[in-house]
This record gives sequence, structure tokens and C-alpha cells, in this order.
Amino acid sequence: MAKNLLIVESPAKAKTIKRYLGAGFQVAPSVGHVMDLPKSKLGVDLEHDFLPEYEIIKGKNKVIDAIKKAAKQSENVYLATDPDREGEAIAWHIAEQIGAKRPNLHRVLLHEITPTAVRQALANPAELNRNVYEAQQARRVLDRLVGYQISPLLWEKVRRGISAGRVQSVALRIIVEREREREAFRAEEYWTLDAKLEGRNPPPFKARLFSHAGRRVDNKNYKLARSEVDSIVAALTAKDAPPFVVGKIERKEVRRSPAPPFITSRLQQEASRRLYFSPSRTMKIAQKLYEGVELGDQGAVGLITYMRTDSVRVSDQAINEVRGYIEQRYGANYVPEKPNYYRSAKSAQEAHEAIRPTSVLRDPESISRYLDRDELALYTLIFNRFVSSQMPPAVFDRTTVDIMAGEEQFRVTGQVMKFDGFIRVYLEGVDEPSEDEDQAQLPQLAEGEILRLLEFYPEQHFTQPPPRFTQATLIKELEENGIGRPSTYASIMSSILNREYVDEDESKRLRPTSLGRIVNDLLVAAFPDIVETGFTAHMEEELDQVEEGKENWVKTLRRFYSPFKKRLGEARKKMPQVKGKGVPTDIKCELDGGDMVIKFGRNGEFLACSNYPQCGNTKEFTRDDQGNIVIKESVAPPARTKSARNAASRWCAGVRDSASFSDAPGIQNATISRRCAAIR
Ligand SMILES: [Zn+2]
Repeated sequence: MAKNLLIVESPAKAKTIKRYLGAGFQVAPSVGHVMDLPKSKLGVDLEHDFLPEYEIIKGKNKVIDAIKKAAKQSENVYLATDPDREGEAIAWHIAEQIGAKRPNLHRVLLHEITPTAVRQALANPAELNRNVYEAQQARRVLDRLVGYQISPLLWEKVRRGISAGRVQSVALRIIVEREREREAFRAEEYWTLDAKLEGRNPPPFKARLFSHAGRRVDNKNYKLARSEVDSIVAALTAKDAPPFVVGKIERKEVRRSPAPPFITSRLQQEASRRLYFSPSRTMKIAQKLYEGVELGDQGAVGLITYMRTDSVRVSDQAINEVRGYIEQRYGANYVPEKPNYYRSAKSAQEAHEAIRPTSVLRDPESISRYLDRDELALYTLIFNRFVSSQMPPAVFDRTTVDIMAGEEQFRVTGQVMKFDGFIRVYLEGVDEPSEDEDQAQLPQLAEGEILRLLEFYPEQHFTQPPPRFTQATLIKELEENGIGRPSTYASIMSSILNREYVDEDESKRLRPTSLGRIVNDLLVAAFPDIVETGFTAHMEEELDQVEEGKENWVKTLRRFYSPFKKRLGEARKKMPQVKGKGVPTDIKCELDGGDMVIKFGRNGEFLACSNYPQCGNTKEFTRDDQGNIVIKESVAPPARTKSARNAASRWCAGVRDSASFSDAPGIQNATISRRCAAIR
């Protein structure tokens, strides 16, 4: 029997590590969490300091028995679950099962899974960290209190089966508010005017009208109207038009620095921009790269460092290695004099490192045949981002030329790259491309030079509403507001999309459903603080403090719970009843003039007449860009023969009696009620 037992979460990680350790070690996977709060009840003892009532997760008895048995026969037990809050909780739960007081029980933090890193970590084992465990426990209990106490309220008031989550509700609010901003937005027309000009030297170039009658045209405070453009063009093409003369020429050297190596949120954002991966897909692939990939004769190796991190720190050893790699591959002038150091966010855990390749000697080309397409794409992204982060800035010569035509001022900016620096390897993507990034090639020009006007290009534009969020830009928004942590971004996104509150439009941007709007409005009215960004960010900070041992988890929960409990009591009394009655609209029923209301069925939202059950009129609908309801025309034809009509009407009567429409299980309510309305 092996003398040592090492416990990890996943079978893949177990397999990779087993290879490194040889016969003296047995490696066992826990396959995720082994204990959790019960599904069927709150599972938190509110009378006794929020004591969680953990139970063994269904189906995990076997895993625990196997671990217990192996532990009994081993001299040393190493708990090497993931190096974060969730991993720490798993380690604690396993320790409780095998006897937390047993001797030679060690915690091992594996930030990367390579033979050297694993050996080093085993040689320097740590203790279980109670603070980290309690921070996880506090979050779990908080989320449970909010989820299990607000959800039943929503079942009663809105629709059975829907739910509320602590952080998810804030994310929903951000999405709903953005949608309302868009609906309130009114596009404004504005014009730009470009002049194509030619000087002594080729090529001709375009300059844009920069100020008119002494006023800067910025398309915000001053927008050009069509009539102004027309009169400028007329004046500058008239017989006695003033000439175009080159005015001030300004040359400036501009530097652009590389982006820091990836943290979780940035990896999710960039993988979404460039590879069109959802955050959860990115995390799944990254996990695989971290846990180990078979590389032929070398066996399995973890290719990247731990993927849940908010630190941009890089170990000295990795910096030395990448500097050597850059010099050898790109030359000495691509190695900055000193390594580039980046600053992490205040809340970041500096024990962690940025997400980087475990060795830059495994470049993407050399291991491409061992990776599938998605793995290779993500690994290449992480690899290039890391290498570029230790390269020098790119250097540009930027030339800004002012051109006067009488009172009118035109301007053109040209940019020439002098040194590509880090751009040689990698350039970060953008979310909303702007058209201002003008990279015109300018000819040699001299101040006072007269230019010939070749043509005018007037162009009509409209101001744009703020864009809907993508999953990636929403993560950015949450992060900037201090909400969510590396381990939670992907799950926030999944739960938001799974809950019928938000769907994705044609370009994969997040749009609230009517159900999402009404739930949001009810929550904002009843729990203004819980769904407020500042409050949620503060909660995250308190959890960070619990993790650092500066705050007590029970005290944190107490401060949260007593105002929450009060709100909850008020909400039970005051929250308006949407279920049954529906959400009012200004649409009238064409059959009896009743008010049409929005109801929520199993298969989504629909319009129904408020005179139900006397009137069974229903309509499907969508919304236009202003949020107005647009009725979809009925598609179901009425039954044609008399006997078919009779059968159908008997069936409809039966359905109506069996349940209220919005609760009829498993039936397409909107379809049924539309058909039944057509029969009568
Ligand atoms: Zn009606």
C-alpha cells in the first residue's frame, strides 16, 4: 500500500499528477464538492449563528468511503484541491470526513501542474486555511439566504419555478437599465465633411472639417447639420473660394504599451472578442489546459497556471524564461531593459499568479498536434498575451496637420509605426470599434503649402444608443463595479441566461425578457439595497476581509441578515401580485375591448385578455427597439369542420378547468389559448 495519499478534485488532474509521483503515492479525485447544503430546505440554522447544515452530496458516499479507506492506510495525506475558496472548502470537507485532527494532514496549493511545481509544492506543504474556508462558507450561506428566501416570494407573486440570486439579480438590473437607456435614446442626425486634397507630393489624402466658424465640430456639443455642410461646400467651391492652405504641422512620438498578462475576467473578455467563446466555454477549456494535456512521450503536463485568478503577478523564474525566449526568437531589441511589472487590482490575491503558460518553451506550434482546435486557440491566446506583456512598447510617429480654407479648419492625422515592439506578437481586441482610429498615410507637406481640392465627401450619420452588453462586456462592467470574483463570473453568466430573464439577440447581446423586467422591477422596489451595485461590491469586500482574517464571517452575515429579514417581511405584504393578473399594457382586446396584460407561461411570455376566463384571447408578441410591444399575427387557423370544432372546444374547456393558464404544466399556453380563442 502507498505511504502517501494525495487528493485532488478532478480525475484529469489526478491522472496528470499520478505520473509525477510514482509508487509511493496514491492519487484520488474527489470529483468536485463532496458536501453541500441540502437542496430541499434552507439548511442554515438562523438561531445558531448561521450554522450550515451540510450533508454529503447524493452519490458521493462511494467517493468518500474510498478516500477514508485510503487515508487510514496512508501515513501522509495531502489535500491538493484547487488553490482558491472552492478548493479550500472541498479540502475542509474531506478533512472532516477523514478526521481533521489526524496527524500528517497537509494542504498543498498547486498553481501549476508540472513535475517541478508538484514536487516543490509537496516539499513545502501548508496548513488548511480556516479564513479562506470561512469566506467560502459565508458566500455560500449568503447566496442561500437570498436565493431560498426571495425565490418562494417570486413563485407566489410572479410565476412558479423562477428564482432570484444575490449577484445575478444585480447583473439583471444592469442589463434592464441598459435596455431602458436604449429605449429612451433618440437618434440624432449629424454630418461630417471630408475634403480630398492634393499637394505637391503624392498621394492625395482626405482631411475632415474640424471647426466651423470658430466652433469645434465634436459631434456631441456641436453637430453639423446638413444645411451647414451644404453652405460650406457651396462657399468652398465658389469662384472666389479661399484656397486650402497647410497650417500648423505637429509631429509627436507616441508609445503604446502592452497589456498585462491575463487574469480570469480579461481572458474571458478576450476569448469572447477574438474566439467567440462564452465565458463558461473559456473556463472549461482553460481548466483542461491547467489540469494536464498528454504530450506524447513527455506524458501529461499542465500547460497553463491556475485559471481563476485576479493577480497579474508573474514569478521571477517565468520572467527570466520568457526574456530568454524573446531574445532568442525576436532579437535583443525586443527585450526591455528591465522586466515589465504590472499592478493588480486592490482586491487581488497576490499569492496567485497571472494566467500564463507553465513554460514558454512549449510554444503553440510545437505542441499543436496534441491539442484540439479550441484548446490550441485558447493556449495560443494565453501564450501570446504573456510573451507580449514582457516586450517593449510600440513606437509611432504621429503627425497632425491643420488645413485652413478661409474660416474653415480641416484636420488630418497620420500615423507611422517606427517600431512594432509587443505588437509583433499580440494586440488586444476592442469591444466597440471606433471610426476615429485614422491611420492615413500622409504625403510630405510643408506649412504654407497650397493644396488643390479634388472632391468633397459629405456624409450623414446618426448618434448610436449605448450598446447592449455581451457576456464579455457585462463581466467587464461587473468587474469595474467590484462585483463578482474570478471563480464566479462564468456561473453568473450561465445562471442569468438559464433563468428566462435574459436572452441573446441576433448578435449575441444580452436583452431582458418581459419576465426579466418585471422581476427586476419587483426586486428593485422590495430590496433596493440587495440589488444595488455599491452594496454588492461592499459585500464582496467583506468576504475578501473574511478571507484575510480581518473580519468574522458570522458578524458579516448578521450585519446583512437583520435588514434583509425586515425587507423580506415587508415584501411579503407589499409586493404587487403579478401572477394571475399579469402586467398591464396599453393594448386593448379586439374581441371585447378588455385590457391586454402580459402573462408568463412555461414557454415564455404572451399577451392575454384581462377578462379571462370569459375571454380567452391571447397574442404572441415581440418588442421593437423602443421597447414597444409588437403583436405577432396569429398563425393557427381555426378548426374547419363542425365535429373538429366541437372536439376542440371540449378539449379547450377541459384545459381551462384544469389549471390557470400560466400554471398549466408542460403545455404551450400561448398556443393553446390562441387556438381556443379561435374556436369560440
Ligand atoms: Zn378579451
